[in-house]
Amino acid sequence: PDRAVRTDQVDAELRRLREAVDSVVGDLRDLGQRVLKRAGPEESRIFDAQILMAQDEDFLASVETLIRNNKLSAETAYEFKALELRNQWSGAARLRERLADLHAIQLRMLNQLMGRSGPEPWSVPDEHVIIVAHELSPGLTVQLDREHVVGLVSEEGTRTAHAAILAHSLGIPAVMGAVGALAEIPSGTILLLDGQSGTIVLDPTRGELEEAKTQVSRRHRLELQLEAVVDAPAVTPSGRPIQLMGNVDLPEEIEPAVRMGAQGVGLLRTEFLLTGRATLPTENEQAEYFRRIASAFPGHPVIIRSFDLGGDKFPVAFKTSAEANPFLGWRSIRVCLDEPEVFRPQVRAILRAAADRDVQLMLPLVTLVEEVEQARAIVQEEADALWKDGVRAARSVPVGVMMETPAAVLIADHLAEVSDFFSVGTNDLTQYTMAVDRGNARLADRFTPLHPSIVRQLHQLVAIGRAANIPVSVCGEMASEALSAVLLLGLGYQCLSVSPPTLPLVKWVIRTVPEPAARQAAESALQARSAEEVSEALRSVVGEYIDVRLLDPQSALPGRRRVATLPPGTAAP
Ligand code: PEP
Ligand code: MG
Repeated sequence: PDRAVRTDQVDAELRRLREAVDSVVGDLRDLGQRVLKRAGPEESRIFDAQILMAQDEDFLASVETLIRNNKLSAETAYEFKALELRNQWSGAARLRERLADLHAIQLRMLNQLMGRSGPEPWSVPDEHVIIVAHELSPGLTVQLDREHVVGLVSEEGTRTAHAAILAHSLGIPAVMGAVGALAEIPSGTILLLDGQSGTIVLDPTRGELEEAKTQVSRRHRLELQLEAVVDAPAVTPSGRPIQLMGNVDLPEEIEPAVRMGAQGVGLLRTEFLLTGRATLPTENEQAEYFRRIASAFPGHPVIIRSFDLGGDKFPVAFKTSAEANPFLGWRSIRVCLDEPEVFRPQVRAILRAAADRDVQLMLPLVTLVEEVEQARAIVQEEADALWKDGVRAARSVPVGVMMETPAAVLIADHLAEVSDFFSVGTNDLTQYTMAVDRGNARLADRFTPLHPSIVRQLHQLVAIGRAANIPVSVCGEMASEALSAVLLLGLGYQCLSVSPPTLPLVKWVIRTVPEPAARQAAESALQARSAEEVSEALRSVVGEYIDVRLLDPQSALPGRRRVATLPPGTAAP
């Protein structure tokens, strides 16, 4: 189509623009409905954010001005303005998530304006395929047909990208952040993709294929073994009980966590109440959600983490200015303490849910004693206010601190004086100790909680917790990995909180590896000089009781060509 239009066509272009917006918004609404049925309410809310973006009046007005002043066609003006916005946004890490949405809308608008019809901008052949893309939008991901699409590879994105969350919900293995994948993987290439380890093998040899098949059947056998422990208690071979809890990120995980025998929730991530939403969730909505979870785990604690916003997690509902170093910036507890209208309703919701259940509050990214004191004061104020107003709520709740920074570990004795419990967030503790961005695919090899600096901090925390007589648990991803779980048990941790699908595996490990062996592994780990040595120590001790090849999918692919290997959780298994 012509880029420029005549003066007498300008009005028609303005009309076309508005019609295209209406049509795109209609499509997005339909899609949201379909996703609601296929995946669930949280996933479908992603489209609310896209609709909001598509209807953004400031943006559309700027497109209209461009059409009027420069006599441009609607598509040309739209593309121009979208490009401008992309450039503005791509500088800020926290807007990256929204870039995918912007791109999705831009595609839809241009298709609409240029009369490229067809219900959706792509189709998938009728055979088993792995899709390799530069960037996967949530909209494209949810339309994937599980029958034909058996895997996803995306150059952009990490595990917190909406597309990765959706792929996980749909059960499609995915490797995100595989930089260079498009250039390295020509169409038609046979790929071996392992979503668990984040490994992609190009043109696998017959041997590699055989290995992979063996690995798959090993995993099946292991799954059968694991089914047997689902109903068994989490006790060590000598009979000591370990509290094995579940991490819940999305409402959909409540049911699997219960089914897999979680003894409560050790980490309830609440950010997903906000992801992709246009507004903050109300106090009532949160109270309702927290109560629902608490009643799913009668007799067990549910530990709710206050909003962990910031870093790469700033939802649309929360407009903030860009920062040069978001992970060292206005994040987590800092945001909550600065924004009473965000934090106080959440505290009230927690107190209300705690009226007749064991509901607790946990504060992320603490670095100062004062942060805990301030948060506790707010909890007390809100509890008093609820009491005065005659609202059914607990008079107080236990307040715990996440150990996610070396600063917190180094002053843990002081923090213990103002905390009811500690929970170690090994993902962030690794990021801040090793100075490695946890989402950076290039540094994935350096991102490991098995580094001696983390092992030593974990060791210290057990002793400090014991001296202060407060419980210390681990809720970072490390606890969900079988070998690391053995290390944690050996270091003296008695409570682990893990992702629901890994509950049976971790329980099986707890029940299988004798305590003296775990202690011996921990002692060797404390002497080690590198993560490799820690890993070796764990393997050699655990290997006497468990076929370690079962625990580490990567070991089954010797000589593989790696396109990308990502931290656990980056990929969706
Ligand atoms: C952690 O940092 O280890 C943690 C559990 O929190 P999140 O992964 O949500 O940052
Ligand atoms: Mg964290």
